[in-house]
Amino acid sequence: MTERRTVLIRYDEIGLKGRNRKFFEKCLLKNIKRVVSGIDDIHYRSPRGRIFLDIPSSFAAECSAQLKTVPGIASFSIGVSMNPDFDAIAALGIQWIEPKLESADSLKFCVKTRRSKKSFPKTSPEVNFEVGSRIMSELSQKGLKVNITEAEYVLEIEIGSSETVVFDNREPGLAGLPVGSSGNVLCLLSGGIDSPVAAFMMACRGCRVHFVFFDNQPFLGRGGYDKVLSLAKKINRFQSRGTLYVVPFEELQGAIRDHCNEENRVVLYRRMMYRIAEEIANRQSYMGLITGESLGQVASQTLENLAAVSCVTSLSVFRPLIGMNKESIITKAKEIGTYDVSIEPQPDCCSIFMPKNPVTRSKIPFLERDEGKFPWEELRDNALTRMEIIKVDDL
Ligand code: ATP
Ligand code: MG
Repeated sequence: MTERRTVLIRYDEIGLKGRNRKFFEKCLLKNIKRVVSGIDDIHYRSPRGRIFLDIPSSFAAECSAQLKTVPGIASFSIGVSMNPDFDAIAALGIQWIEPKLESADSLKFCVKTRRSKKSFPKTSPEVNFEVGSRIMSELSQKGLKVNITEAEYVLEIEIGSSETVVFDNREPGLAGLPVGSSGNVLCLLSGGIDSPVAAFMMACRGCRVHFVFFDNQPFLGRGGYDKVLSLAKKINRFQSRGTLYVVPFEELQGAIRDHCNEENRVVLYRRMMYRIAEEIANRQSYMGLITGESLGQVASQTLENLAAVSCVTSLSVFRPLIGMNKESIITKAKEIGTYDVSIEPQPDCCSIFMPKNPVTRSKIPFLERDEGKFPWEELRDNALTRMEIIKVDDL
């Protein structure tokens, strides 16, 4: 028989959801099943408050790597399911601890029990004592010491109503809420550092994130397009089923360059992006827009300029990075694996035809006057007709 492992998955805020709890749990289980679908011979159990995966031990490393991509998991442990028999649990503990004593003079350890099966005849401290003392009688001569506050090795026992799991590891998950539990949103995804991080943060709040990229290949080449494909794919790993919309933007940018006040250009580009994104969102019933804007980071992201772009849409605009500095955004981008793609050199579409002095406090009537100088509705509809639609799962 192949050796089996039990993965004990703890979830994050779902526990707070009262009567919606079942719905959140179902969402999470579905997302977990998707990431481990490549593992053969896997069984699922979901007793109250936990999800258990029963897997062949040869898949433990792969399973662990996959679970780290699932929003909604607080932490998980890989251990062994067994009868709550103190001798058997102690024997397993000894088997795990003994090799560690070979390379060290001493080791501080403790046993920690969590018991949700209240009918179990012993309390948690009693179980700790029963198992701990059995292990000590075997290993104290080899340098094992009990130390509850400074343990270097913790043997954990979780006695649930249907199953007892023994483990010695805890891996952190992404936390947050399971994707699909909140709804669909559309992220304005450039090839830069910020917007992929913004998309990731909303995925961790339970959103399925779709992407729109405003492309200016005639002026900027294919590099931006390729970067965005690769970034969308990286974010989609945390959720699946994202769609990427690529909107040709050169006509609109050309018109703004030729007809409008130079200093207003960037804000005018952004207003057109928001309008087009809104149209896509409305067609697909997406419930909000996401951008990577952070207050004051660049001239186009002052309070005045953010207000001047938000006001063209009635959709909610989510800016999860609004209060973050660049350094912490970069740290996050590195963690989620998008940073290396984002820093590949590629001019971004807002920096071409960049005015020498972009306006920092734009006035909406002046922007509207500029927009009266070219047929933006027609150009918007044109761009939408020529838009490319890509299923990110297929990339
Ligand atoms: P990023 O690193 O995300 O590009 P940034 O700091 O470079 O952000 P801007 O270039 O001012 O900031 O863009 C602000 C936001 O506008 C971006 O985070 C993104 O959401 C959106 N955006 C900018 N350019 C594009 C584009 N070509 N396609 C789609 N969205 C864009
Ligand atoms: Mg940018």
